[in-house]
Amino acid sequence: MKRPTPLETLIVAMIRDDGPMPLDRYMALCLGHPVHGYYMSRDPFGPEGDFITAPEISQIFGELIGIWTAAAFQALGAPEAFHLIELGPGRGTLMSDIMRAGRVMPGFRDAARIHLVETSPALRRQQAHKLGNGVTWHESIASLPEGPAIVIANEFFDALPIRQFEARNGQWMERRVGLGAGDRLVLGLAAQHLDRPPAADGSILETGTARDDIARALGARFAASPGAALIIDYGHVASALGDTLQAVRRHKFCSILDRPGEADLTSHVDFESLARAFAQGGAATHGPITQRQFLLGMGLETRAALLGQKANPGERDVIGRAVERLAGENQMGNLFKVMAATSPGLSIPYPFGSP
Ligand code: SAH
Repeated sequence: MKRPTPLETLIVAMIRDDGPMPLDRYMALCLGHPVHGYYMSRDPFGPEGDFITAPEISQIFGELIGIWTAAAFQALGAPEAFHLIELGPGRGTLMSDIMRAGRVMPGFRDAARIHLVETSPALRRQQAHKLGNGVTWHESIASLPEGPAIVIANEFFDALPIRQFEARNGQWMERRVGLGAGDRLVLGLAAQHLDRPPAADGSILETGTARDDIARALGARFAASPGAALIIDYGHVASALGDTLQAVRRHKFCSILDRPGEADLTSHVDFESLARAFAQGGAATHGPITQRQFLLGMGLETRAALLGQKANPGERDVIGRAVERLAGENQMGNLFKVMAATSPGLSIPYPFGSP
């Protein structure tokens, strides 16, 4: 048997002390343990890493979001100053592309105060390198200043912890991480009341309280002062039963219990639940639409053609492949969804609400 990871040893000790661990706690430790958490010490992105995200595939992704952001700034009344907030900014690539594209909108760049919500010291260093010193970091949304704001989040909510429940004999039981033979981590079921209608035996239900809490807080913020958010993530439009928790290491799926702290753990975002939480906070929500609809609506093809004109044939191929990857029906195009939330009374942001 392989030696346990340092985090695994810690988790085994915690379970021995406190009993089987709910998955949200397990996920939070695997991703965010201050020393051994997956994001804490490494750069997980790109061909050499574990996975790749849309902004790392092509600059066009961030540029189109930059145009959306600049339009949102105008819809807020082009304030003299506003907070441009990104949740989970990774390498800082998306924000850098947003700022470059934002040059087309007079006043946008001067008005933007950049705030990054990021827990990983390793990624903060990369963000500082990319974006320079004029940015402010936050551990969580709690310390963000008040006032007009535009919030961007790409593949952030999928990394926030969830819990899972499994139906057994007309009751919901909670899935928890416990100890098997030889102190191996195993999934088990524990009695835990859940106020939801029962389902067929074996059904899995996921709850994302941490996600919904953030959406509700942002919703309240937009009810109090002008604001807009754009949320992009893989997930489903309507709440559904099913196990979507997954682990990825070096571009391959593995068990969520394998090598804790060394694999990325994510689960699909329940956009229906997220939209409800934004609305509970007091915001209006738009969409979700697919990433394909969003990017095509924002002019993906025109932008790709323009870039292609300046490129040599090899580069043109790369651009074509990136467009396919971002918007293709069987690639990220349909799997990823895009949702907006705005202060009530603001006009519906394009391309939401367009046929
Ligand atoms: N948006 C980037 C990165 C996505 S990966 C991109 O598209 O490339 C998830 C990001 O969220 C990483 O930057 C990670 O460090 C950060 N993150 C994960 N959990 C977080 C939490 N609880 N609070 C703040 N940031 C978190």
